[in-house]
Amino acid sequence: MSVECIFCNIKNKQIPSDILFEDDYCFVINDINPVAPVHLLVVPNNHFTYLDNLTDDFAPVIFKMFEAAKNMAFSKGVSESGYRLVINQKSDAGQEIPHLHLHLTAGTKLKSLG
Ligand code: 5GP
Ligand code: ZN
Repeated sequence: MSVECIFCNIKNKQIPSDILFEDDYCFVINDINPVAPVHLLVVPNNHFTYLDNLTDDFAPVIFKMFEAAKNMAFSKGVSESGYRLVINQKSDAGQEIPHLHLHLTAGTKLKSLG
């Protein structure tokens, strides 16, 4: 685990954060700079930089991240109104933290991507 990684340090409790959910695979926090009324980050426990490094070994973690997102959408009351899941990869996508994470945004009409 990289000690310079913000998300590893949140997981290690070196940086305080409100962890809303955690299990053996991933954890969920509120984004510090929300762009929607609900803006959560679903983060794998183990440091994983880019999807470039994806292998079959990672399949359970990917499943658990989507399961956590779905469950958080229910608990935040947005599973009916809708939500968006986004993964930024590298500079053109504006990825700020090189530790894979899912953004879950909801609670307002989200701008169309199309
Ligand atoms: P990215 O741009 O890498 O896809 O997303 C990184 C996200 O992490 C950004 O939306 C940013 O607001 C959020 N973020 C950056 N630093 C912290 C932090 O220390 N705590 C939390 N909870 N979120 C952070
Ligand atoms: Zn990390």
